[in-house]
Amino acid sequence: MLRSLWLDDDDGGRLTGPGPQRAAAARVGTPSVEIVGAGVTGLSCALTLAEAGIAVRVHDARGVAGGASGRNAGFALRGTALAYDEARDALGPQAARELWALSEVALLRLAALAGDAFRPEGSLRLAVDAAERVRIRAEYEALAADGFAAEWREPPVGGCGGRFHGALFHPNDGAIHPLRWIGRLANVARAAGAEIVEGSRVGSLADLAAAHVVVATDGLGAGLLPALDAVIVPARGQVIATAPVQPHTVVCPHYAREGFDYWQQLPDGRLVVGGCRDTDPTREATRDDGVTPQIQSRLEELAAAVLGAPPLITHRWSGSWGETPDRLPLVGPVAEAVAGRSGVWIAAGYSGHGNVLGLACGDLIARGILGEAASVLAPFDPARRFDGAAAPL
Ligand SMILES: Cc1cc2nc3c(=O)[nH]c(=O)nc-3n(C[C@H](O)[C@H](O)[C@H](O)COP(=O)(O)OP(=O)(O)OC[C@H]3O[C@@H](n4cnc5c(N)ncnc54)[C@H](O)[C@@H]3O)c2cc1C
Repeated sequence: MLRSLWLDDDDGGRLTGPGPQRAAAARVGTPSVEIVGAGVTGLSCALTLAEAGIAVRVHDARGVAGGASGRNAGFALRGTALAYDEARDALGPQAARELWALSEVALLRLAALAGDAFRPEGSLRLAVDAAERVRIRAEYEALAADGFAAEWREPPVGGCGGRFHGALFHPNDGAIHPLRWIGRLANVARAAGAEIVEGSRVGSLADLAAAHVVVATDGLGAGLLPALDAVIVPARGQVIATAPVQPHTVVCPHYAREGFDYWQQLPDGRLVVGGCRDTDPTREATRDDGVTPQIQSRLEELAAAVLGAPPLITHRWSGSWGETPDRLPLVGPVAEAVAGRSGVWIAAGYSGHGNVLGLACGDLIARGILGEAASVLAPFDPARRFDGAAAPL
């Protein structure tokens, strides 16, 4: 049972299996760029580079979508891990606006690439009490003031016996089938000429001979950039899925309690529920792919609350992402003093919000390698976490 629901829906591996190949030349000798990680970030980077005619090789210790990209609960959300008003306070209005707009463009690109692996349903951020209502209302007002799509919903909203105190509906968000989406992205990257080597663990960046190396490991890259291990720490998310349930009452991805509880109902009626990691945060600071009785029972309670009765649980699984102190990813070039070699780039540490942002950041890293400047990435500059001697700040 410790297996993701998405794996059972992968058409026997057809979607994540090898796709069409074009650049056989990239398979011999040293490519121009080597990428560590075949999740959404690494594959997005590989796609942009391959489309520009650059020889690129992606290494993954597991395989395509073996990390968080294939194990999450399928929420495709705009923005960063900070709510829009929090981003405005932390980064200033212009940077927050630019990042939000970047994620909106990435979401459109995701929808175009993913086909029916994306469902444009919107998403609902729900308030469990009056205090959370105030915080969510602040995000709604900030988005509306800056002209971004956002709708306020008064109770009753979100089901669960009317326990929610209001909600922010994000009309442009949606749901993905993670494995199908990433499988398609991998196949598009392969078709453009990228080489993807599965079962290829990179022990040290010094082992890679390419002029440019991209670390696209979110929360799973411990040891690759030792100076970063204290900055990007792992956080595990546990998930359950139920047998199909009717009626279909959950019409889009829902999340509440500052994102600690989240659930969506698939078109066939199955409910996917994740979160509750705040029940045991110390033990959940791990890259281990296990589950624990304590959090699983909380997820079962949440599923029962959503559906009004305890459902049959068919799948249990987990995955880990990378958390940073300011909840923003590290995206950009890494100083040689930190990386131990030249030509190293990173895009990691999305703090649980990398499904759409990872697509954008992988593409922007590729553009950086191609010599295009991207000022929108300034708030994500890895240098913000280091002093000149490569010590974490
Ligand atoms: C349960 C759960 C719920 C989530 N919910 C959301 C959400 O609601 N919204 C959202 O936007 N995001 C969410 N996320 C986060 C999101 O899934 C990730 O941020 C995103 O998928 C990161 O993609 P990535 O490509 O950067 O990293 P990953 O998909 O983690 O890929 C990294 C890859 O690097 C490989 N790797 C690591 N080290 C090495 C090495 N030394 N050598 C070779 N390969 C290596 C791994 O095998 C892995 O395949 C969630 C994640 C989980 C697990």
